[in-house]
Amino acid sequence: MPNFEPTEQQTLIQRAARAYAERVLAPRADELDRRGTFPCESLSEAADLGLLGINVPEALGGTQAGAVAYSLAVSELARACAATTVAICVSNMVAEVIASFGTEDQRAEHVPRLCGGDYVVGGFALSEPEAGSDPGAMVTKAVRTDDGWVLQGSKCWITSGTHAGLFVVWARTNDSPGTRGISAFLVPGDAPGLSRGRPEEKMGQHGSTTTTVDFDEVKVPERALLGTEGGGFRVAMMALDGGRIGIGSLALGIGLAAFAKARSYAQQRHQFGRAISEFQAIQWPLADSDTELEAARLLLLRAAWRKDQGLPHTREASMAKLFATERAFQVCNRAIQVHGGYGYVREFAVERLLRDVRVTSIYEGTSEIQRLVIARELSRGR
Ligand SMILES: Cc1cc2nc3c(=O)[nH]c(=O)nc-3n(C[C@H](O)[C@H](O)[C@H](O)COP(=O)(O)OP(=O)(O)OC[C@H]3O[C@@H](n4cnc5c(N)ncnc54)[C@H](O)[C@@H]3O)c2cc1C
Repeated sequence: MPNFEPTEQQTLIQRAARAYAERVLAPRADELDRRGTFPCESLSEAADLGLLGINVPEALGGTQAGAVAYSLAVSELARACAATTVAICVSNMVAEVIASFGTEDQRAEHVPRLCGGDYVVGGFALSEPEAGSDPGAMVTKAVRTDDGWVLQGSKCWITSGTHAGLFVVWARTNDSPGTRGISAFLVPGDAPGLSRGRPEEKMGQHGSTTTTVDFDEVKVPERALLGTEGGGFRVAMMALDGGRIGIGSLALGIGLAAFAKARSYAQQRHQFGRAISEFQAIQWPLADSDTELEAARLLLLRAAWRKDQGLPHTREASMAKLFATERAFQVCNRAIQVHGGYGYVREFAVERLLRDVRVTSIYEGTSEIQRLVIARELSRGR
């Protein structure tokens, strides 16, 4: 069983993330939300602090601190700014997947550049207009040529699509049905024929751009294939196991921020001659939120700990994401209720937090898909 006390190294990473979040992210979060500008400067500072390769070997430019440290750091970052944090999460996922599946050359060429911020961030291009929960329905193709591959198709919903300097792109490479004919490729953001759409107008996480990425006869060399031909689905699923711990941790961070604001507001706000925190009707939702955030934290740490031990963690990562994202949404909603009318306006950040948390139970697998994954693992006897 995991010991839930962080080690010295994990505590150091958590503290570094908190200091960066308070100094760099928090002061910019509101403006980022209003303007929807991509946080290039903050991301460059994140790279300087080693936050773009938290669970990547030091030899490849990473911090090599493990999945538990990653979860702790992501929650700290998301307390301040979910939009910047999701760009950091996806970039970490891209660096990790190359570190895990790449050849020596691919690792040496791309991972240090991702960790160091040379690519700004990495992008993860799996979803398509007709292939969201069901990646096996993708139609983007990669056709083999004498000296490489040619990619043709369109991806959508790509986080950091405006700025990512390197994408992992999934495409169909043979006619096997469903997920069997899919392969993964490393495609530089400046590859001729690659174009990026306009950012979607989203409910929240405005500073994180979400775009289509189109591939019109994009030529990549043979060495761009990540993993084996036809093995791309496995690459995606393994990346998402870790990614889900990241998104759950991100939701936890947003929930913690909303809870802290609700708690302090309840002590300051007076009605009927006393602080509203003295009303049981206010105390109970705060107690529920505190309990649920703690349970989410423990589920996330357990999933991350299993990942660090090299143990299977698909079921635990899905449970942690499902619970953390859905409970964090409830925590944010309750925080608005505690604020009354003041919770519904921009001046008090809980309004942004509710908008920011909503998508966490959609991307990297909806809550319904997490339940499917958990049920599948159950039927396998795990
Ligand atoms: C802001 C944002 C950022 C994103 N970033 C990325 C990114 O960087 N890279 C990337 O590749 N993708 C990204 N996505 C895409 C995201 O992963 C998909 O939106 C998600 O997987 C759901 O796919 P969909 O939107 O097509 O919904 P659908 O798959 O069409 O699902 C619609 C509804 O049906 C339910 N459903 C579908 N299948 C089943 C089933 N078998 N059983 C029960 N219910 C089911 C879903 O749970 C959902 O409620 C992003 C999305 C958003 C909104």
